[in-house]
Amino acid sequence: MSSQVQRPGLLFVLSGPSGAGKGTVCKALLQREREMKLSVSVTTRAPREGEREGVNYFFRSVEQFKAMIEADELLEWAKVYENYYGTPKTFVAEQLAAGYDVFLEIDIQGALQVKRRFPDGVFLFLIPPSAAELQSRILGRGTETDDSFRLRFGAAREELQMMREYNYVIVNDQVDRAVSRILSIMEAEHCRVKRNLYLLNEW
Ligand code: 5GP
Repeated sequence: MSSQVQRPGLLFVLSGPSGAGKGTVCKALLQREREMKLSVSVTTRAPREGEREGVNYFFRSVEQFKAMIEADELLEWAKVYENYYGTPKTFVAEQLAAGYDVFLEIDIQGALQVKRRFPDGVFLFLIPPSAAELQSRILGRGTETDDSFRLRFGAAREELQMMREYNYVIVNDQVDRAVSRILSIMEAEHCRVKRNLYLLNEW
């Protein structure tokens, strides 16, 4: 008997302290794994140069964002650096049901909310290779005063503690190596026995 049942995709959530290189890693990951679906978030922040509506984000007013919360349209949401960010629920549900893996790049507060709703999701934590490297990445932006550097560096070190809430930690020493690690994790997660019990029906 062969199973014609469409297996749902897996939900992967990536977060990490600022300076870990999440954006760069996500972009490179999508280029190597084109089947997976990256969720496009809603935000109340203004678009940066080159950002496009519906590609980088759905840009909305605070009022529109709050209406989405009221209508229960968001899987999770959080306020990050004075702006609201959230993950539209329908897209995630539809893609998973169609058998696609879905990838969320969201902050830690949001990831913890997703974990409550999707305990079967896979939670990935990206970190810079060392404190010294994080220091030079923050300073490398060239925009930091002493105070703001201390604030950002201290915040990143505190955020690092949240690693304990995740399933995997990925050290971002080199972008292509970090991407390879994530792809290996994705492959291994698909091979977990608990996700493949349907195979028994075929024997
Ligand atoms: P940026 O404004 O630089 O694009 O993103 C700022 C922060 O917001 C990043 O840490 C990013 O991971 C987070 N973020 C982006 N989209 C979402 C989302 O839908 N939900 C949550 N909780 N955080 C998000």
